[in-house]
Amino acid sequence: MSAPVKPANDPAVIDEAVALLKAGGLVAMPTETVYGLAADAGNADAVARLYAAKGRPRFNPLIAHVAGPSMAWRLAGWPDLAEQLAEAFWPGPLTLVLPKRPDAPIADIANAGLDSIALRAPRHTAAQSLIRAFDGPLVAPSANPSGGISPTTAQHVADGLGDRIDLILDGGACPVGLESTVIALLGGLPTLLRPGGLPRRQIEAITGRLEEPGSSETLLAPGMMKSHYAPNAAMRLNAETAEAGEVLLGFGAIDGDLNLSAAGDLAEAATGLFAALRALDARGAARIAVAPIPNEGLGEAINDRLQRAAAPKDDLT
Ligand code: AMP
Ligand code: MG
Repeated sequence: MSAPVKPANDPAVIDEAVALLKAGGLVAMPTETVYGLAADAGNADAVARLYAAKGRPRFNPLIAHVAGPSMAWRLAGWPDLAEQLAEAFWPGPLTLVLPKRPDAPIADIANAGLDSIALRAPRHTAAQSLIRAFDGPLVAPSANPSGGISPTTAQHVADGLGDRIDLILDGGACPVGLESTVIALLGGLPTLLRPGGLPRRQIEAITGRLEEPGSSETLLAPGMMKSHYAPNAAMRLNAETAEAGEVLLGFGAIDGDLNLSAAGDLAEAATGLFAALRALDARGAARIAVAPIPNEGLGEAINDRLQRAAAPKDDLT
């Protein structure tokens, strides 16, 4: 039986979601980035169910979602830079990887046994209501089978995981459409682990130039696995026209079968990217060709997702 889909703006539905989460259940929630699959971060059994539902490798740590800094302080060391970044960008699409407090009420399995923890305060009203009503951190990776295209509508969640979870909160389409930007603040220089919905330049205005992750961090940031966000079709990037057997995802002046943004607007392209990949994949073409996307602003994260979507699927590093 597929999980019920209920309106996220109904307080009675939020109460029902909290009761399910307290009982160790799995609830899909809208956030401004993509739909997340929420579980009680302190309940090891619930988090184990979450990994199983997604088919997610257990070495891939989860982001704990908090209402704001005061909930974050209980979970992690909080350097000045974290305070400044949270002040500027929380709630919003920025995840901070921080030293985990030994007494943090987070199940070890949630952060893959690391001594760090990734924290984010989502901006979406429904996610905020749910975390506040639950009154504690919720882990919430994207609500899709591991390795596939992230969901940006409740229907996407139902299609991928409907029969493996307890409830889907419908808050409409996700406004940002790309996962959060992930920054590590672990004592060394601030490091960009994953480009995402908050452009690098805005963060660097506060942190100065962000470091690239070294090889040790690369394994610790498995959203960085080369194959991820993958449609069934093969992908070809930087395409000006479609070849035989291809459908073309356009951008700007390159129109294609669908256009991410005829106006060449990167925010619009980000919002619609995952839905467009799903729609083109559903046409059954052997290959999806994608027009060039400028690598500036949100384009860095769009290109990151496209490159992972195009990577060979057996390449997990
Ligand atoms: P996902 O929830 O699948 O979108 O991805 C979570 C992202 O946060 C991945 O890129 C993880 O590698 C990253 N992440 C979560 N926890 C940690 C951590 N403790 N250290 C480094 N990266 C983390
Ligand atoms: Mg994901």
